[in-house]
Amino acid sequence: MNKLHYLLLLYLFAHCGVTLEATTKDPPNIIVIFCDDLGYGDLACFGHPTIATPHLDQMAAEGMKLTQFYSAAPVCTPSRAALMTGRLPMRNGMCSNKRRVLFPDSKGGIPATEITIAEQLRQAGYATACIGKWHLGHLQPYLPTNNGFDYYFGIPYSNDMDRVNDAPKNRLAFFKPKVEYWNVPLMRNEEIVERPANQTTITKRYTEEAIAFIQSKKDQPYFLYLPHSMPHVPLFRSKEFENKSLRGLYGDIIEEIDWSVGQVLDAVRQSDDAKNTLVFFTSDNGPWLIFNEQGGSAGLLRDGKGSTWEGGMREPTLAWWPGKIEEGSVSRQVASTMDIFATASKLAGVKVADDREMDSYDLMPVLMGGQGDRPALFYYRGYRLMAVRAGDWKMHLMTQNAYGQPDPVTHESPLLFNLHIDPSEKWDVSKENPEVIAQLQGIIKTHKKNAIPAESQLEK
Ligand code: MG
Repeated sequence: MNKLHYLLLLYLFAHCGVTLEATTKDPPNIIVIFCDDLGYGDLACFGHPTIATPHLDQMAAEGMKLTQFYSAAPVCTPSRAALMTGRLPMRNGMCSNKRRVLFPDSKGGIPATEITIAEQLRQAGYATACIGKWHLGHLQPYLPTNNGFDYYFGIPYSNDMDRVNDAPKNRLAFFKPKVEYWNVPLMRNEEIVERPANQTTITKRYTEEAIAFIQSKKDQPYFLYLPHSMPHVPLFRSKEFENKSLRGLYGDIIEEIDWSVGQVLDAVRQSDDAKNTLVFFTSDNGPWLIFNEQGGSAGLLRDGKGSTWEGGMREPTLAWWPGKIEEGSVSRQVASTMDIFATASKLAGVKVADDREMDSYDLMPVLMGGQGDRPALFYYRGYRLMAVRAGDWKMHLMTQNAYGQPDPVTHESPLLFNLHIDPSEKWDVSKENPEVIAQLQGIIKTHKKNAIPAESQLEK
């Protein structure tokens, strides 16, 4: 499709009931690189002392580091649903208090009534591809190809599912992983092309697929969603990265992802659209700490994956757009993966549907170095609202460790932390700040008026 066809397409959309908001003369390509269980402290540019991430460090030097950027949930499925839809998972049922994610025996998935970011961008003529871990339903109606993506290649759920019966019991399989212990499928569009997926080359193959997609798009804007299966356990890397990192196996995995980011950015740099491509790098949730040295690190943040303490949801995030985002900039604005939906929609000139509650705010003011529009951030675990953040304050209504504590503790008198002063959430200052508690209670009251839970897809 050349530019003239593209403009014609926009004209047709404009006269077929699709409202185009902003100028769409030259909408940017958008790439979202999404890790699985990467911790806030796992990149050199976020302070890790022994994991080498030169390509991510360069991405940070050429773009923006976001130090207060969050996923919308502390586990995979709800987090991904929120990224895809710009909505809290409780609004579309992609969460549960019983089963935290989708499993191979799950019958549910992302509801057809949801509008994904890919469906949104398709309205503006974008080519779309999902390469990697999906985890929003592996049955036919829920696959990426039925949710706005022209192309899919990847493992449709977590790489530790479909464990075979004779694999070593408990966590032993994870500490000496072999490909054949997990019978996970690798899919191309709607077909299984390999089973078990050879996970040792999975990062490399996702990268090759991503580069081929970028190189194939000459005259059409594109949206590439690249959700890596790693560093979710079991940890696998290709030959070239074996025993490479001072951090051991987990470090090898991150260093291969870092290589992959370098390859993807090089493909963009070499394309005609180098100056018109916005790339995000982030993760779905914090590190899986119960796997000890096989899990990552949340750095100075408390707890990890599964928890609504900061380590469960604050992600090491980078944004890169040469010529637009100031080189080497840092934003401390509170922002969310859900905001990518509104940002991409605005850049593509596609109106966000107004028939539903959205939780997405345009990030461009933040990426341009200014103040964000997001007034508050809500921390959910399943359907439970656990905490809220506004500005530098975070208030916990309930707390629960990621693992080993079966029920949450409800705080009749909520806990309060100043995250600028106390990012590790060590010192409760609620007693000294009753007016802040009252203000945050007010924010929750307003939020709850429009927070209507949908039936769980994870319990089907
Ligand atoms: Mg995850």
